[in-house]
This record gives sequence, C-alpha cells and structure tokens, in this order.
Amino acid sequence: MLTLAIIKPDALQARNAGKILAQLEAAGFVVRAARLVKLTTTQAEAFYEVHRARPFYRPLVTFMTSGPALVLALERDNAVAHLRDVIGATDPAEAKPGSVRKLYGASKERNAIHASDSPETAAREVAFFFAEGELRELG
Ligand code: GDP
Repeated sequence: MLTLAIIKPDALQARNAGKILAQLEAAGFVVRAARLVKLTTTQAEAFYEVHRARPFYRPLVTFMTSGPALVLALERDNAVAHLRDVIGATDPAEAKPGSVRKLYGASKERNAIHASDSPETAAREVAFFFAEGELRELG
C-alpha cells in the first residue's frame, strides 16, 4: 500500500531531511518515488483545498511555498496508519516521544512532515504528484 509524505520546507531548511528519510526507511517504508519541489501557490492551495475555510489555510499555503519540500511516495503494509504513527500528532508539543514531529517540528504549522490521513486521501495525494509510470518498481 502506498501513502504520501512531504518533508516540509522547515525540515529542509534545517537540513533534517536526511535524518527524517532514514527514520522512515528504518520504520519499514520503501521509497517508490521522490521529488524535490518548490510548490507554487496554486499547487499548495489545491493540495490543501480541504482546509480552505480554516483560519490557518493562508499561512499554511505561504509556509508550504516558502522553500523546497521533498515529496515521497512510500510503500509498506498498512502504510497510511503506520506513517501517521511514525510522524506523531499535528502539534509537535503533543506528539509522542521519538516521533518525527516531536524530534523535528517547531510548531503546529512548522511540523516537519505531512502524511496522508486516509487510504482515499493517500490515493489522491500520490496521484497529485506522481504519474503511475514514475513509481519505482519494488524488488
Ligand atoms: P495533519 O494531517 O496532522 O498534517 O493536520 P491537518 O490536516 O489538520 O492540518 C494540515 C496542516 O496544517 C498541519 O500539518 C499544519 O502544518 C497546519 N495546521 C494544522 N492546524 C493548524 C493550526 O491550528 N495552526 C496552524 N498555524 N497551522 C495548522
């Protein structure tokens, strides 16, 4: 099963991307596709469309377009739930010890990593960034 992760601009800026990727691989995820992107405002708005009415929507779009981000299509069994577990709660202050957001997040907004929150969202989000043919074969 596939899920989407985005190592966010704060983590790239702090040069934590390698450590985060190593943690994901150690947790059993296989990188099927990866791209370093600088999201446009239009892309970030579309990606976070579900949050359009939230007060944090505009600041979130500004943050996500503020610098490079590393987009990853990741595979393992039960990938969506496992990745949510590995990254921890949205607010780093509430994230469990050892989770990516606890280790590398600074605030509820600058929380180092995105992960799809359901299988349906994962399918949409992987397809948002990657064509079928861009997914590396396993093996
Ligand atoms: P996630 O699924 O854990 O990433 O959380 P959400 O889907 O609820 O929110 C999407 C992203 O919006 C989060 O990862 C944060 O970067 C940001 N965000 C969520 N809630 C807040 C908030 O209350 N304040 C701010 N500033 N940012 C938020």
